[in-house]
Amino acid sequence: MAARILDGKACSLEVQGELARAVAERRSAGLRAPGLAVILVGDNPASSIYVRKKRQTCERIGYLSSGYDLPVDVPQQELLALIDMLNADPTVDGILVQLPLPDHIDAQAVINAIDPDKDVDGFHPISMGRLALKLPGLRPCTPHGVMTLLRRAKISLSGLHAVIIGQSNIVGRPMALELLNARCTVSICHSRTRDLPAMVRQADLVVAAVGKPRFVHADWIKPGAIVIDVGINRLDDGKLCGDVDFAPVSERASWITPVPGGVGPMTVATLLENTLQAAEQRDSASR
Ligand code: NAP
Repeated sequence: MAARILDGKACSLEVQGELARAVAERRSAGLRAPGLAVILVGDNPASSIYVRKKRQTCERIGYLSSGYDLPVDVPQQELLALIDMLNADPTVDGILVQLPLPDHIDAQAVINAIDPDKDVDGFHPISMGRLALKLPGLRPCTPHGVMTLLRRAKISLSGLHAVIIGQSNIVGRPMALELLNARCTVSICHSRTRDLPAMVRQADLVVAAVGKPRFVHADWIKPGAIVIDVGINRLDDGKLCGDVDFAPVSERASWITPVPGGVGPMTVATLLENTLQAAEQRDSASR
């Protein structure tokens, strides 16, 4: 069996097209364009690429994007003061602080400082709480992007056993909540999980968010399973690869996301969806 590809790049472009039309409609109704502020601390090459991509996409679809590039040794107080300023700026609907931050900065304190209504990354405790309680809110971008990709491919999730490898705050945990909310039975695995291959073999849906190249082997995959590869790993030759051993796994899976071109573009699409959602919420709150 050869798996069908879940094409995140195409799906992301479809979402971006819809957002661009929504922005044009807003403008013609006399409303402002959604505004996204992106803060980058230091010059981590991967972070710089991600931030550039986010800013370019914003501009292409008609958002107002403002960039704040701070030196790697910026004091935490200065970063928090910038966030306070952006929280109070009525032209800013979303604030994104690119992670990881340098060691001298308490990332959780920075996330906590963002106004939850502008938390377009969805990492604030209030956003996570809303997700856990199934309340409307701004969702963590990568897991929600996975859900959008599955929904648009018309894959039915109810009752599936989903096994997630990874329990980070930004991927594994919110992914588990999203899948639980979609009525999957969810298992979360991590570095202390006993007999990981046996756990994964039970899965109808596998989400790999480990950060280790080609970590998930084909003989762990139940024939016909759906495989979502969140991992982005740069190999010595400069090429990108996921956490899943793509070629052999795609011989057993029914659906699979490629890397690149799978989950990554959906993360960006969800960030933009969240920014429009935040703008619409602020419009209706000010009416
Ligand atoms: P992370 O914070 O490093 O978490 C990795 C998780 O993998 C941890 O929960 C860890 O378990 C688990 N793990 C490590 N070794 C394991 C093993 N041998 N067996 C089972 N579990 C193991 O990473 P992350 O931020 O979640 O990111 C994961 C990957 O996704 C990375 O490649 C990252 O670049 C990528 N990513 C992609 C996107 C995207 O848009 N596509 C977005 C975010 C992240 P413990 O908790 O026990 O240590």
